[in-house]
Order: sequence, then C-alpha cells, then structure tokens
Amino acid sequence: MAADPGVVIIGASLAGAQAARALRLDHCYDGPITLVGDENHLPYQRPALSKGYLLGTIEPGELDVLEPRFYADQDVTLALGAPATALDLDARRVRLGRNVELAFGQVLIATGARPRRLRVPGADLDGVHYLRDRDDSERLGAALRAASDVVVIGAGWLGCEVAAAARALGVRTTVVDPLPAPLYHVLGDRIGGLLARRHLDHGVNLLTGDGVEAVLGTRSVEAVRTVAGRRVPADLVVVGVGVTPNTELAEAAGLRVDGGVLTDGHLRTSHPAALAAGDVARHRHPRYLKPVRIEHWDNAVVHGTAAAATLAGRPTVVDHVPYFFSTQYGSTLEYVGLPATSDRVVTRGVPGEPGFTAFWLDRGIPVAALTVDNPGAAGHLRGLVAAGHSADPRRLADPDVPMADLLPRVPAS
Ligand SMILES: Cc1cc2nc3c(=O)[nH]c(=O)nc-3n(C[C@H](O)[C@H](O)[C@H](O)COP(=O)(O)OP(=O)(O)OC[C@H]3O[C@@H](n4cnc5c(N)ncnc54)[C@H](O)[C@@H]3O)c2cc1C
Repeated sequence: MAADPGVVIIGASLAGAQAARALRLDHCYDGPITLVGDENHLPYQRPALSKGYLLGTIEPGELDVLEPRFYADQDVTLALGAPATALDLDARRVRLGRNVELAFGQVLIATGARPRRLRVPGADLDGVHYLRDRDDSERLGAALRAASDVVVIGAGWLGCEVAAAARALGVRTTVVDPLPAPLYHVLGDRIGGLLARRHLDHGVNLLTGDGVEAVLGTRSVEAVRTVAGRRVPADLVVVGVGVTPNTELAEAAGLRVDGGVLTDGHLRTSHPAALAAGDVARHRHPRYLKPVRIEHWDNAVVHGTAAAATLAGRPTVVDHVPYFFSTQYGSTLEYVGLPATSDRVVTRGVPGEPGFTAFWLDRGIPVAALTVDNPGAAGHLRGLVAAGHSADPRRLADPDVPMADLLPRVPAS
C-alpha cells in the first residue's frame, strides 16, 4: 500500500494547532502532519493581544496554544514563516513561498482573518494601527505608552477592549462608531447602552452615532474628523472595524467561498480533500440551519477539534452554541448564542454589579445571553440556549433561581 502522504494544515494558529493536537492525541493519527504558518511564531492565542499582552502584564510564553515541545514530541512538522501561496487540490499539493511544494492526502484550511482596512483620507498616516497579531500588539502597546490622545475607530469587542486598555494606561481615549451604542449589533440599544455607561464612567469620550470622515495630519496622525464635523485630537488611531476572512488561497483553488470558505456541518469544503476551520470557515450550522462564520476563540477550538475528527474518518457534527468572552475594566463579559434579532430582553441583577445577566428571547425562547462577572454561569446559559425551550421570564429575571435550575428538566423515565 502507498504511504499516507499525510495532513497539511494551513494556518499555524488556534484552529490549526488544535487540529494537530486532536489528530495525534485524540485520534492517534500516525501519518505525517505539517503545520504551515506565515507568521514566525509558534501558534499563539490572540485574546490577550488586546488585554494583558497589550498592557504588558502577560509574557509571550503565556500565549502558547500548546507546549512548545508538543510539536517535536508528537512529530508535527512546523513550516513557519512560510505562506502557502498555491493549492492544487486535485494534485494534492500545496506550494509554500515560491518553490517549496508539499504533498498531502488531506488539507485543512485554517487561515483565519485579517483586519478590515479603514477607507478614508489619511488612513495610511503614521500612527494608524490595526490589531490582529502579536507583532501588532507589541507595536500598539509601545505606541499607547507614548500616546496622549488615542481615537479608537469602531466600538465592537476589539475597540471596546483597546479603549479599556488605553484608559488603564491613562491615555485620553475617544471611541467613534456610527451605531447608537457599543456592540450595538450584538447587544442592541438597551444593553449596549449599559456598556456605554461603563466606558463613560471610565472617562472614555464616546462618540456613538458618528463616523470617521478623515484622519488628519501631515506625516503622522494629528486628529480625526468625524462625519458630524467634530475634530478630535489624536496622536494615535486604532482601527477596529471588523475582519475579512483569508479566503484567497481557497478561492484560487476552486473551493466554494461566500463570506468564508463554505463547509458542511463536518467542516468539509466543496472538494473531498479539503476541510476548513476557525475564523475562515463558514460552516452550515445545524442549529441555525444556515452557514455561519464565527470569529470567536471557542469556535476555533471546537472547529479544530472537530476538523481532526473528520480528517481521522470520524466526522462529528459541529452544532455548538457560540460563546465569546471579553475583559473590559477588570470585568469579564461572556456572551452565548448568535447576536439575536429579537428585541425582547429580560435582565437579572443590577447593571454594573457581578452576576448581571441579560437574556434575549425569540417567541419566548432564550436565543442568546450575556453575563458579567459570573464564573460558571456561561455553561448553564449555553445549555439553556442549546435546549431551545421557552422559559418563564420571571424565573430568568429572579436572581434567587440558580442558573442551573433554568435548564429544562429532563422528565424522569
Ligand atoms: C486582538 C484579538 C483579541 C481577541 N479576543 C478575543 C476574546 O477575548 N474572546 C474570543 O472569544 N475571541 C477573541 N478573539 C478572536 C480569536 O482570537 C479568533 O477567533 C481565533 O484566533 C481564530 O483562530 P483561527 O486559528 O481560526 O485564525 P487565526 O488566529 O487568525 O490564525 C490564522 C493563521 O493563519 C495564518 N495564515 C493566513 N494565511 C496563510 C497562508 N496563506 N499561509 C500560511 N499561513 C496563513 C495567519 O497569519 C494566522 O497566523 C480575538 C482576536 C484578536 C485578533
């Protein structure tokens, strides 16, 4: 029998490293595994890049996805600093850089996403920063320490975290976003408004309902002009206006791509030799009955693990309830579910105090929830959303009803 040409994983980050780990340790796969990454670092975790690593309270070694010795111990070949530049799925070969070629039996595309660029005059001035990788975080951390006035463009998760970090460093901070509240598309008016209060209380100049028209300056940033005509002084601008999935390689290889590499519920793409996982994948989610692309740490872990199962010939359906966490001003926010289209929100607890929780209901069924400084609650909230049963709003709102008791009871048999 011909030797197994093995698995090539393109993207040496969270989803990719998880897949390598699960292939070796969960599925005892003994064929060759090569992890290809265009960055020069061992796979690392990104969440701290906008939190502790940005603030200098976390060391580089604490970012590792896996123990550095894992790769040698488990015979996983690392090809770092080597972008995959072409993929021939029928010939089952991938090119790295200009002239290195690798053969594979199956390939996992885990190329993640990159920041969407700001498209206004002055966006290329010195002092305009983006944040995606470790080097970005190191540059931004140094720039924040030297800055007096930062303008953060975009009040999504990333923008909110950078604003909180900037305030922790004592930098005057303005956040500009055209929507009416921070994280408006996730939290809506009312709960987004509570988050706005938190930023205001920490001294952020929050300009919601206003966009950025231009970044002003001669060589480097001096100010930001908004659509409403404000001129906000700035010696540093951080852009957090969302990400674009890195689909070019997959698209050029002929895979079906539509706002992400399209996959089925087992993360299989439109070619039998290729899977996709993590931020780049838009997988057909059985729970939501539509393709979804989720840019969360947890999703990359779930996808990496599930992709390994499919690669090992034991496909499992990926139907998890999405989960996101964030840290701002020392508080941990955890969100489960997809951003709800429903406007019915039930809350428990006091805004600003530990344990505060919001539930989004769609026709009486909890479809998403946010909880603040509530260790252990997110698992119950995930179970509640996963169950898909209607819930009594009075019990949801009652802090005396333990979270665990909100889950529908399994009838005794
Ligand atoms: C600053 C920041 C903070 C975050 N904070 C949180 C948080 O608090 N909570 C949370 O739930 N999520 C958070 N996230 C999101 C989470 O980190 C991502 O969802 C996760 O990193 C996705 O993992 P991934 O492996 O799919 O993609 P990525 O981590 O993007 O990795 C993809 C890798 O593939 C590489 N690559 C791309 N193209 C090629 C190519 N052609 N050849 C070789 N390599 C290639 C990329 O350079 C990258 O190294 C944060 C993300 C960022 C950037």
